[in-house]
This record gives sequence, structure tokens and C-alpha cells, in this order.
Amino acid sequence: MTQTRAYGATSASEPLAPLNIERREPGPRDVKIDILYCGVCHSDLHTARNEWQNTLYPSVPGHEIVGTVTAVGAQVTQFKPGDTVGVGCMVDSCQHCASCAEGEEQYCENGFTGTYNGPMFGGENTWGGYSENIVVDEKFVLRVNHNAEQLAAVAPLLCAGITTYSPLRHWNVGPGKKVGIVGLGGLGHMGVKLAHAMGAHVVLFTTSPGKQEDAKRLGADEVVVSKDQAQMAQHTASFDFILSTVAASHNLDPFLALLKRDGTLCLVGAPEHPHPSPTVFNLILKRRQIAGSLIGGIRETQEMLDFCAKHGIVSDIEMIPIKDINQAYERMLKGDVKYRFVIDMATLD
Ligand SMILES: [Zn+2]
Ligand SMILES: [Zn+2]
Repeated sequence: MTQTRAYGATSASEPLAPLNIERREPGPRDVKIDILYCGVCHSDLHTARNEWQNTLYPSVPGHEIVGTVTAVGAQVTQFKPGDTVGVGCMVDSCQHCASCAEGEEQYCENGFTGTYNGPMFGGENTWGGYSENIVVDEKFVLRVNHNAEQLAAVAPLLCAGITTYSPLRHWNVGPGKKVGIVGLGGLGHMGVKLAHAMGAHVVLFTTSPGKQEDAKRLGADEVVVSKDQAQMAQHTASFDFILSTVAASHNLDPFLALLKRDGTLCLVGAPEHPHPSPTVFNLILKRRQIAGSLIGGIRETQEMLDFCAKHGIVSDIEMIPIKDINQAYERMLKGDVKYRFVIDMATLD
């Protein structure tokens, strides 16, 4: 075991503070990574504060990790010291269920192991990226091909990027498709960039008219203020696919009405209280579907990183020193960030 400096919470009511954790020595298939940057995801806050009632303490969040390989086990074939790599939301899965066999480890039927807060169905705690280093099985390490100056802004691709990329790919977003993205936050701004790069006609739905210019800069072809019924009505039954990143409970009917026959509304925001049930007629009359999607598998996460490197896509970020993390959480709750905080891990000492 190696003593590792980290930043985390010791209880739901304590702010995050410096603490020490122990990392395992790299095993034969492990990669040891010095962490350069870690993105700040809303799940980090939910976990640190035990808002999902499953937090193991001490809790060290962070699952948008970019770093440099410093050591590899004897059987590691894909990575060597000096490589620039990423780690996302998972660090292990059973590797033998049907989902794992198909490279969809995020749906592992025996439960994947989160980068922090341990296995989904119980087990020892794991600690995430708010720390100086991490040791990960090479199967869960991603290669980063972006330029050195882009690395901080690459970090959010590991959760926000793949969470939006996977459903856009699954529902075949591309040229000739009209695609809606609901909400312009950490996830939504990635959804707009990715759907635009895939060649779709992208419409951003927002409740804030002030976001129009920024949405267009990010790649939206049109911006619709979702509270404006007249604007919404102009798009009735015209969308192939709508991706909602909104994590607050809201009425889904106004968005379902915008889907074409066989269109899909996919939800990736997880509200604390359920959405009101939509009107079933809205589904029946045009065979519309409501779906959900969870991050992406390791193979697809690599595909996303390569797609982003090729298209020059990164997240829009605000870099912070680790000591500002508690303040960053408060600002994130107010939506006061364009569009993702990233911690410069060099500030951890
Ligand atoms: Zn996340
Ligand atoms: Zn599995």
C-alpha cells in the first residue's frame, strides 16, 4: 500500500478537506497514474453529501480523470510510463456477464465498480480523482490523444462527454437528423458540441433566453426557449431524437409532442423526484419512446475520446485549485459555471 494525498469528505455534513488514503501497489495488470486534472461532476457532490444514501466514508470523489502513467504491471500491454491517459466512471466490472462480453460494462449485470464509492452492489470503498494518483486495471484505462494544452478540458469528456455521446450514437444521430438537446449545463453543452460534430441539425432547448448566443457558439443551429409555447409549437412532430440532460423533475409532454413518429426522448439527467407521468396518448399516436442511458462502455469511451481528438472537441471549463472545491460545489448548484469545473491537481499539497 502507498499513502496517497487526497481531498474528500469524512461525513455528509463536513466540507471536503485534505486527507490521506492508501492505494494498492500496481498488480500485474494495473496501471499507476499521476493525476493531472479531475473534472467536477454533479455526482461528486451527491456522493460527498450522501444524497443517494449509499456513501462510504471517507469519500474521495472524482471520475473525470486525466493523468500520466508512472508505472505498469508486468502483464500490461497497452500502456507504458509517460503515456497520457484517462479514467472515467468505472474501474472494474465482472468481465463475464452478457453486457461485459458486449463491451457494455456500465450495464454489468453483477454491478460495475465505480471509480469512487466502490462496487454498485456493495464491497470495499474506492477513491476517485481528487487525489495525487490512482491505480487502475488497464482494461479500464483510456488513451488520450489530444494536445498537451487541451488536457484539462479533456477531463470532463470522461463522464459528461460519454454520457451524451453514447445515446447520440445509439440512436444514430448524424446528417439529416433533427436532434434536440435539453439544458445547457455540463452535459448539455457537450451534447450540443457532439451532435453538431456528428452532422445533425441541433436545436438547444433552454429556459433561459440569455443562453442563445452561447448555444450557437457551441454548435446549436437553433435555440428554443422551452417555456415559450409558441416557439415550441413551431417544432411539433419534427424531431428524430431529443436528449434531455435536465436533472430536475419536469413535465415531459411538451418535449414528447415535438418527436416525429418513432422518435425517442432519452433521459440522462436523474431527478431526485420522479417526472410526472407523461400523457400516454402522446406516445401511442406516434409510437414515440422514452428511454434512458448510462455513461458508455470502455470501448465506446475510447471511440468518443478519439472522435473528440479528431474533431478538436473539449469541454468549456473553469479551472480551480483543489482548496476551492467546496465553493465550486455551491456555484455548481446555482448553475454558475461555464460549463464544467476542473481541478488542477498540482494544487494538492
Ligand atoms: Zn459524473
Ligand atoms: Zn459484467
